[in-house]
Amino acid sequence: MPYGKGRAIPKESRLGTRFFAHPPGQAGQGAKESDIHLYLKAQCLLGARAAGWEALPEQSGLTPEGEDWRADVLCRRPGANWSVAFEAQVQLQAEATYRRRQTRYAASGIRALWLVGHEHSLLSRYWLEPDQDLPAFKTHIWKDERGRPGAHVLIDGQCLPIAEFVSGALTKQLHWSGDARHGVLHLVLRDDQCWHRTCQRKVRLTIKIQTTRGTPIDLSTAQDFAGYREAYAKAQAALPDLASHPQPFRKGLLSRCPHCGRDIRYQAHEWASPTLTTVPIGVTIPDHGIRLGLTPHAQWHWGPQTHWTNWAPIGEIGAICDPEISAQVALQSHSRTPHPL
Ligand SMILES: [Zn+2]
Repeated sequence: MPYGKGRAIPKESRLGTRFFAHPPGQAGQGAKESDIHLYLKAQCLLGARAAGWEALPEQSGLTPEGEDWRADVLCRRPGANWSVAFEAQVQLQAEATYRRRQTRYAASGIRALWLVGHEHSLLSRYWLEPDQDLPAFKTHIWKDERGRPGAHVLIDGQCLPIAEFVSGALTKQLHWSGDARHGVLHLVLRDDQCWHRTCQRKVRLTIKIQTTRGTPIDLSTAQDFAGYREAYAKAQAALPDLASHPQPFRKGLLSRCPHCGRDIRYQAHEWASPTLTTVPIGVTIPDHGIRLGLTPHAQWHWGPQTHWTNWAPIGEIGAICDPEISAQVALQSHSRTPHPL
């Protein structure tokens, strides 16, 4: 996790940044605290302590300007200043309020991470364009048939138990990736067959290229982005039945069979195949890229780079989304996810 953006925490006596724990039973500012909120806080405490950090619930403080804040769970490395807060946000909160509260934490030298347990669509703009200054994460909360609360953080295609997420976030499993020139495209491939009667082998054909948000990018234009050709060659190495990058031909596309080398002419219909494979490729965004709808990649990721979803280094391919493989993954994650609240 990147640190050092906020100011160093001031000395407690000089600038009035103070922390005080509330006696048990007085937390939650008078309102009865929900089971799920208590559960989330307890899991944050467990996760922080598992990471070797000190953690306390319901800590309050003041910015140097005298604005108050109150953290669900406040953490520090043993012997260091309090530096990370976890906020379990179950009640609806608008993005502007997230940002205002984040600014107060930053003024006190604290980086807050938000578990967004309320209706996710309220932050739909943020999910489209996350940013490094506001680490916020979709969190699924539920109660099981006996009324016991549970929750997962959804990140990079995974469902992580809260304690695991908190522990990992404090031990460098959480990464921010985003610089102004790095774009990610998806090659969308369909299964087909070489039509030449002496070959007839399975091939994969590129039917479209789109941004991670689904904006289509012209095939010929994409080919000229720096990193594209190298990445396509790597996709061919990883998928030996991938045909060559297609060229427009009359009203369709023209490619070459990877097995027999003969031309394959085709229409880029999605419905012609029950299964589509997606390959993320990393490119350098050219000056006109933004106009084409190719925005720089900017996203939180989890764990080692090779496992990040919807991401690839420039000139490389990322984790391939093959429907046969993802069906297995979905089955595994389904068995871990009880019904949502
Ligand atoms: Zn062939």
